[in-house]
Amino acid sequence: MSSPNLGPGPSTKIRRLPDKATYDSDAIFSILDEARYCYVAGIVDGLAMALPTLHAREGRTLYLHGNRSNAIMKAVLDAGRACVSVTIYDGMRLARSGFESSIAYRSVVVVGSTRSVEDEAERARILDLFVDMVLPGRASEVRPMTQKETRLTLVVALSIDEASAKVSQGPTEDDTDDQELPIWSGTVPAHLSFDEPVPSRDGAMAAGTVPLPASVRRLLDLR
Ligand SMILES: Cc1cc2nc3c(=O)[nH]c(=O)nc-3n(C[C@H](O)[C@H](O)[C@H](O)COP(=O)(O)OP(=O)(O)OC[C@H]3O[C@@H](n4cnc5c(N)ncnc54)[C@H](O)[C@@H]3O)c2cc1C
Repeated sequence: MSSPNLGPGPSTKIRRLPDKATYDSDAIFSILDEARYCYVAGIVDGLAMALPTLHAREGRTLYLHGNRSNAIMKAVLDAGRACVSVTIYDGMRLARSGFESSIAYRSVVVVGSTRSVEDEAERARILDLFVDMVLPGRASEVRPMTQKETRLTLVVALSIDEASAKVSQGPTEDDTDDQELPIWSGTVPAHLSFDEPVPSRDGAMAAGTVPLPASVRRLLDLR
């Protein structure tokens, strides 16, 4: 059984290549959760701006955070609505023509209402969620946030009122006329990978005796 749809809504109807569209909430949430960062769009001083930032999802709420002076965060709060998008790069789809060549991707566009998170318990929970969004399990390893750090941080909740996903994958789709051309065609899959960790050399790390934390070991699949 498929999960509930989050669209198409008035702002999220995909028109071109609708066969690549999905509005299924599970598909949308899994792309949002896998994406390492997002772009938040807003109008700043009359100009449409899209800025990269971190996001963290809890149910049908997408959280953003930034310094209290952050112009784009203030803009989306003033507007009362925002649009956030994410893209995961999955590789190349190399057709025999440039026209049919493209990249493989999974992308999501979310549109919803915004509010500033002022409740202390919600703020604390979400600030930990951001740390775990960067690296699962890390929030329980770092020192707790100070009151000053918490005070400086603006947390914005975006209700996932409507959303769309577009998924481009699979073999290339060459024109039939092109298929006999002796030109290489195919896909080159891509994925995110992590290299050997580089430890800090300052303070308590200088002696080289602080062990690699469980969160990083899990990330690298080390026993
Ligand atoms: C990495 C990447 C590269 C791309 N390169 C190109 C390119 O070079 N040229 C090009 O024409 N298109 C490109 N696209 C596709 C592009 O994002 C749009 O889907 C496309 O411009 C057609 O949009 P539309 O007319 O259907 O929708 P629009 O009318 O532009 O948008 C209507 C609504 O459809 C939804 N929507 C549109 N696109 C997406 C999407 N990608 N993901 C999720 N929801 C979406 C949104 O909710 C949006 O508000 C690329 C997409 C990605 C992820």
